[in-house]
Amino acid sequence: SASDKPEVQAIIERVQTLHQTLHKYNYQYYVLDDPTVPDSEYDALFHELKAIEVKHPELITPDSPTQRVGDKPLTAFQTVDHEMPMLSLDNVFNEEEMRAFDVRVKKVLDQPESADIEYACEPKLDGIAASLLYENGLLVRGATRGDGNRGEDITMNLRTVASIPLRLSGTGYPERLEVRGEVYMPKKGFEKLNQSALESGEKLFVNPRNAAAGSLRQLDPKLTAKRPLEFCCYSVGIVEGGSIPNSHFDVLNQLKEWGFLTNPEMARVDNVEQCIAYYQSLLNKRDTLPYEIDGIVFKVNDFDLQDQLGFVSRAPRWAIAHKFPAQEKITVLRDVEFQV
Ligand code: NAD
Repeated sequence: SASDKPEVQAIIERVQTLHQTLHKYNYQYYVLDDPTVPDSEYDALFHELKAIEVKHPELITPDSPTQRVGDKPLTAFQTVDHEMPMLSLDNVFNEEEMRAFDVRVKKVLDQPESADIEYACEPKLDGIAASLLYENGLLVRGATRGDGNRGEDITMNLRTVASIPLRLSGTGYPERLEVRGEVYMPKKGFEKLNQSALESGEKLFVNPRNAAAGSLRQLDPKLTAKRPLEFCCYSVGIVEGGSIPNSHFDVLNQLKEWGFLTNPEMARVDNVEQCIAYYQSLLNKRDTLPYEIDGIVFKVNDFDLQDQLGFVSRAPRWAIAHKFPAQEKITVLRDVEFQV
């Protein structure tokens, strides 16, 4: 009706503003490695946009930040087309939303609400996603996620990360195997790096994630080699000429046998209530962990169930990140200069 019009117009204008603002923040965060607002502020705007789109699906456009993963890569590196897209994760922020996620899973799987779904639980390391391609056991390429379809070829830099096997150990690995995981900078290394930057009058890094991202995108691999980076694997992509176990947890244990670092906190639980208990216990341990985590990732453990659940635009339907409460220091550090 005519009386709706100004209201609808206001919503359309808000959506446009949110698109512009989120695109700008994405570019600063993913391309420049130089965020200007804390993640919690970004997340709040992202969720506002999502909520509007749920109410008004006709306002969803293909270029909406809710439909995209990351941002386009820089041009300094060669680009890599991901044969299997590297997706993002949907988030929940409390127990109620976590239980609602579990209910949605069972609905899609056509299981009763009382059924128990087995989940794999892993800390959500706050670094950047990397894809490692192995052919006949040899590391042949390493790439960033980029916008999910195209990333940057950073093979030379990834080769300098000590916990990335240049050759797989053991036997039985597929001829072509893509291992995915997070490159991150442990807290101690980050503090040391910033301490020496401070002493030599250089710009400081905002946080370990930012430091890891900047370190990986050095054009000179010798600089990357000096940075205290680690790689922890959390999934596989391409599997050809061989096979892997049929659950997430078993695959991670297999990757460990082939030489990868897996997270010692990872666990397998029987149902969503145990996911919530796991979340609480890790939240309590958060400050004692040697690396920064910004939440917990829960994944439906069984690959057959994962296949049935499939994907939506930018994230798998079988995984969710339960984010920890914000713990930002960006404002405190505003008066010192930061480097990318
Ligand atoms: P995300 O970081 O929320 O989740 C997806 C990523 O989680 C994966 O790509 C992977 O790198 C990582 N991850 C860590 N542990 C994992 C595990 N065990 N299994 C699977 N994945 C794991 O999503 P995103 O799309 O990379 O980025 C969104 C995040 O970036 C939000 O938290 C947002 O606050 C932040 N962001 C901030 C700004 C800003 O301006 N401050 C801008 C854009 C994005």
